[in-house]
Amino acid sequence: MSTVKDYFGCMVFDDRIMKATLSADVYASLKRTIDEGTELDLSVANAVADAMKDWAVSKGATHFTHWFQPLTGITAEKHDSFITPSPDGGVIMEFSGKELIKGEPDASSFPSGGLRATFEARGYTAWDPTSYAFIKGKTLCIPTAFCSYDGHALDKKTPLLRSMEALNKQALRILRLFGNSTARCVRSSVGPEQEYFLVTKEMYDKRPDLRFSGRTLFGAKPPKGQEMDDHYFGVIKPKVAAFMEELNEELWKLGVLAKTEHNEVAPAQHELAPIYTTTNIATDHNQLTMEIMQKVALKHGLVCLLHEKPFAGVNGSGKHNNWSISTNEGQNLLSPGETPYENAQFLLFLCAVIKAVDDYQDLLRISVATAGNDHRLGANEAPPAVVSIFLGDELTAILDAIETGKPYNNTEKTQMKLGVDVLPKFHRDNTDRNRTSPFAFTGNKFEFRMLGSSNSIACANIMLNSAVADTLRIFADRLESASDFESALNQMIKETITAHKRIIFNGNGYDESWIKEATEKRGLLNFRTTPDCMPHLLDKKNVDMLTGLGVFTVAELKSRCEIMLENYCKTVIIEATTMVDMAKTQIAPAIEAFSADIARAAAAKKALDSSLACSYEAGVVKKLSALLDRIAVKADELSNALLALDDAEDIEEKSIMIRDTVLSLMGELRLACDEAETLTAKSYWPFPTYADLLFGVK
Ligand code: ADP
Ligand code: MG
Repeated sequence: MSTVKDYFGCMVFDDRIMKATLSADVYASLKRTIDEGTELDLSVANAVADAMKDWAVSKGATHFTHWFQPLTGITAEKHDSFITPSPDGGVIMEFSGKELIKGEPDASSFPSGGLRATFEARGYTAWDPTSYAFIKGKTLCIPTAFCSYDGHALDKKTPLLRSMEALNKQALRILRLFGNSTARCVRSSVGPEQEYFLVTKEMYDKRPDLRFSGRTLFGAKPPKGQEMDDHYFGVIKPKVAAFMEELNEELWKLGVLAKTEHNEVAPAQHELAPIYTTTNIATDHNQLTMEIMQKVALKHGLVCLLHEKPFAGVNGSGKHNNWSISTNEGQNLLSPGETPYENAQFLLFLCAVIKAVDDYQDLLRISVATAGNDHRLGANEAPPAVVSIFLGDELTAILDAIETGKPYNNTEKTQMKLGVDVLPKFHRDNTDRNRTSPFAFTGNKFEFRMLGSSNSIACANIMLNSAVADTLRIFADRLESASDFESALNQMIKETITAHKRIIFNGNGYDESWIKEATEKRGLLNFRTTPDCMPHLLDKKNVDMLTGLGVFTVAELKSRCEIMLENYCKTVIIEATTMVDMAKTQIAPAIEAFSADIARAAAAKKALDSSLACSYEAGVVKKLSALLDRIAVKADELSNALLALDDAEDIEEKSIMIRDTVLSLMGELRLACDEAETLTAKSYWPFPTYADLLFGVK
C-alpha cells in the first residue's frame, strides 16, 4: 500500500509533471503564463497539449473535457475522446493546442439571463492555466472559463479571475507606497470549511422531498435532536469513517489538500476543511470536493446532503470562507507585523476590509443568497442576515485609541502612534471566540461565515475581492497624491475608523437586541430573504464599483440578478409542487388508511360488546379527520398559489409572491402533516421519519 506522499496529486498535471514532461523553454513559457498572465503562443500550447495527452493516456484516460462552472452553481463537462482515425483503419490519440485553449460547447441550455439570444446558442470555453488540469475517471479535465460569443461571462470563474486581478493591481499600488518594490503579485487565498449531512441511500430513496429538493419538506421533530450536544466532535461511526477515508484518498489523488474532518453539531452532520490555497484553485477544489463527496457517499450506501437546511429544527449546513491576501513572497497582508512600518501597512489593509464590508454589506449578503440559505441566515444557528465584523476586544481597543488619540490601555499603557509604535501582540485565542459573527477576524485572516453549504465560493470571493480592491484603489489614489505620506496615512486611517466603526460588533450576533441595534441605531442593512436583497445588485453604487474595476459588465450584472431570482423561484416551486404531491398521494392516503383501520377496530370491538367506550379510537379518528381536512384545504391553496404565479409581471414580482404566499402556505401544510405524523402508527407512515434519517447511519 503506497503512502499518501506517493499518491498525492497523482491525477493532477501539476508543476512536478510539467517540469518532467515539458522542454525547458515550453515549461518556462507556461510558467510565465501561469504566474504573470502573459499570453501563451500556439506552439507552446501544442507542446503542452501533447504532453498532457501522453500523461493522461498513460493514466488510462480516453477523453478530455473543458470543465467549467456555469451559473447553475455546479460544474459542467462535455467529453470528447482523443481518438483520430489513422489511414490504416486504426486510431491514434491526438490532442492539439487549439483544443486545449478553446472549446465550443453547445451552451444553449445553460442559464444566461438573456445574455445570449437563443439563435446564438454557442458559447466558448477558454483554458485557465492557473488551475491545474486533472483526471477524473477516464477523462482529462481542463479547468476553463465559459463566455458567450461576444465575450460576456456566463460562468463564475471569469469574474472571479477578474476580481483577483483587480485586487492584485490595487494592492500592489499600496505596497509600492510602503516602499515594497519586490512583490510581483498579490493574491487572495481561501480555506473553505465544508459542512454536510450523511443519510442512508435506502431511506433517501423513500423520500421524494429529499430526491427532488435536497431537503425534507415534512417531518415531525424526533424525540432526540441535537440538544445533548453529543455529536459535535464525537467519535466517528465506522460507516462514516470508511466514507471519510475513501473521500480523503480520492481528494488527495486530485491534489485537494483535505485536512480536517469531524462530526458537527447536528446528528449525521460532518465537516471537511482543506488547507487554504489561492482563491481560484480553492474554488475549483471546493466544487470538486462537493462532487466527490456525493460520489463516494453513494459507494458506501449513503447520500451526502449539501443542502443548507435538510432538516427543520436541526442545525443547517454552511461553509466558512477563510480569506486572506498575501504577496507572491509570502507576506500575509492581514497579519500584524514586527515593525512599526509593517503595522501601519497592516492597519491600512485592515481598514480597507472594514470600509469595504461596510460599504458593500449588500453585495456580501447578495453573494450568499439562495432559497436554501434563506432558511439559515437569521435563524438561531447561522450568522444573522445583518453583516457585521468581529475584531475582538483588543484590536477594537487599538482602533479606538488610534481614532481618539487617547492612550491604548494594554498592560503597559502605551500610547499608540501609527508608524512609530509596534502594535501590541494579540493572540489568536483572543480573536476567535465569537462564533456568531458573519465576518470575523481570526488573527491573520477573515472568516466569512454566511455562505451556504451548497454555494459555490466563487460569488462570495468575487464580491469580497472587488469591494476590497475598490477601497484600496480609493486609498491609493489619495496616498499617491499626498505630499506627506505618513500624515496622510494617519489621517486616512482615523477617518476610516470614524466613518465605518458602526460595522464592528464583538457581541452575540444571535441576540435579538443586536438586530434592533444594528438596524435602528447603526443603520446596517437586514435583508432577510433572497428577493429582499437580490435586486440591490443593480443599485448604482454597486454597478459603478463592479464595472469600474472591470469585474462585470452592466449586461452581466443584469443577467446574474435575473438568473439568481429565477433560481430562487424555480427552487421553491419544485419544493411546493413536491409537497402538494406528497401530501395528496402519500400522506393523506396513509392517514386515511390508519383512521379507517382504527374505526373498523372500534366497530368490531363495539360489535363484541356495545358497552365499550372506544374513546381512544374515537379521539384519534376525530383528530386525524380534522387534520386530513386541513391538509386537503392547504394542499389546494398551495396549488392555487402556484398557479397564480403565472400572473406575475416579471421575475422580481414572482419572487415576492413566492416569499409572501407560497412559503407561508408550505409552512401551514407542513404543520398539519407533521402533527398527523405524531398521531399515525409508524407502520402506516409512507416514508422514513426524522429519527430514522438522523440516526440511521451506523
Ligand atoms: P477553525 O476555524 O475551525 O478554528 P482554522 O482557523 O485553523 O480552523 O482553519 C480553518 C480554515 O482556514 C482552514 O481551511 C485553513 O486552511 C484556513 N486558513 C488558515 N490560515 C489561513 C489564511 N492565512 N488564509 C486563508 N485561510 C486560512
Ligand atoms: Mg472556522
